[in-house]
Amino acid sequence: MCGLQIEKSFSFGLDRTAFMGGPHKIIGMKYYSLNHKSEPVSFREATILGQAPDKGLYFPEQIPRVNQNLISNIHDFSNEEIAFSVMQPYLGDEMPEEMLRKIVNETIDFPIPLIPVTGNIFSLELFHGPTLAFKDVGARFMSRCLGYFAVKNAGKITVLVATSGDTGGAVANGFYGVDGVEVVILYPAGKVSSVQEKQLTTLGKNIHALEVSGTFDDCQHLVKQAFADKDLTQTLSLTSANSINVARWLPQQLYYFLAYKRWPVADQAPVFSVPSGNFGNICAGMLASISGLPVKHFIAACNANDVVPNYLVDGQFIAKTAVQTISNAMDVANPSNFVRVMQLFDQNFFKLKEKLTAYSVSDGETREAIKKVKIERGYLLDPHGAVGYISLDRYLESNPGLKGIFLETAHPVKFLDVVEPITGEKIQVPSTVASILPKQKNSHLMNADYGELKEFLTQSDVFKN
Ligand SMILES: *Cc1c(COP(=O)(O)O)cnc(C)c1O
Repeated sequence: MCGLQIEKSFSFGLDRTAFMGGPHKIIGMKYYSLNHKSEPVSFREATILGQAPDKGLYFPEQIPRVNQNLISNIHDFSNEEIAFSVMQPYLGDEMPEEMLRKIVNETIDFPIPLIPVTGNIFSLELFHGPTLAFKDVGARFMSRCLGYFAVKNAGKITVLVATSGDTGGAVANGFYGVDGVEVVILYPAGKVSSVQEKQLTTLGKNIHALEVSGTFDDCQHLVKQAFADKDLTQTLSLTSANSINVARWLPQQLYYFLAYKRWPVADQAPVFSVPSGNFGNICAGMLASISGLPVKHFIAACNANDVVPNYLVDGQFIAKTAVQTISNAMDVANPSNFVRVMQLFDQNFFKLKEKLTAYSVSDGETREAIKKVKIERGYLLDPHGAVGYISLDRYLESNPGLKGIFLETAHPVKFLDVVEPITGEKIQVPSTVASILPKQKNSHLMNADYGELKEFLTQSDVFKN
């Protein structure tokens, strides 16, 4: 109740409009469904719902323009100020200014360095967050927004999420101890790395890990069944925490702005190469660029899952079944955020092709690059970053004179089993990981059976809204 009063008395300050305002201020941004059947909603509703009732992804009605002053003088702004200025128009008056500032400050509360690897290739290291993968930023932002909205609603919200590895850890960490939010993570037994499993199963409190005897697809299917179960959703407020949720998708723009702040080449905008699976991250970069961030070109760096590289050749989008690779966080057959990418380019294939190149990289090439870059440059890539590096290198070879950044999306220690045999060297385990390894795993075993999931969710009052 008091939250509502704060919201009502909250008004736009001059400092903010100076950075982002432009000719028309955006108050209370609306989000519409890309399936165009459900009603537009506010940021708060889009965050709580995750997906629109018509199963479409939410998309902002307007794309705000970043004030030119922020771009031209980006070195003069703190990371926190940049982050606030970029995110504020997407929330409008949904949250008091001081709350949003607190949330963005906590979201980017770790280093995001830009490291030169060769003369024209830079690595943007996105793995210095608590779970050592780039998903920390989106998960931290979303968890704090949802926590704020849950307190205002005075009801419990349950986040239900299936993970193949990295999402679960980031979501668990982001939501740990957030009042009013319970998190249920489904993961396939024996199919996540030991570091990833410990990140999911050792926190306790409001984080519940369900170890499913089955595959990632089984887990995802169970989650979808729960969302479609009207009987269940009457008593529980369920939401998702993957990149279809606007509160996870939108803050990923910040990487690109913060990279630009560190970009050392004065007279030329960077090419960005983004290791891509569900295309949430690259889509956020494209949104940043349409908002006014200088970007020369985008590269979608894909593994053997090559739906988008093929699409860019002939305009045929043919979804296949996912192929398993050593960059497993990108083993996605039908990238759900690609509909947002198309919307950003007005559904125009030729417009998209002007700004985006996509490559498919094999596991063999990935291994070779990890070895070569370690030996020749002394830089250790993880398998996902390696796909980004190779794709950027390929593009720069056919476009001489340009320079670029690849996003290093995970710490190599998360993929020890792949990386150590390639380089023949032990990777030093960071303290954040070392401290959880001896902890007791705490998971609830279940079959890939919807009845069992429903029973787990309804047997106690823990998840009741
Ligand atoms: C999730 C993930 C990706 C893919 O990101 P999308 O936004 O799904 O394209 C790439 N690398 C790592 C390490 C990831 O965890």
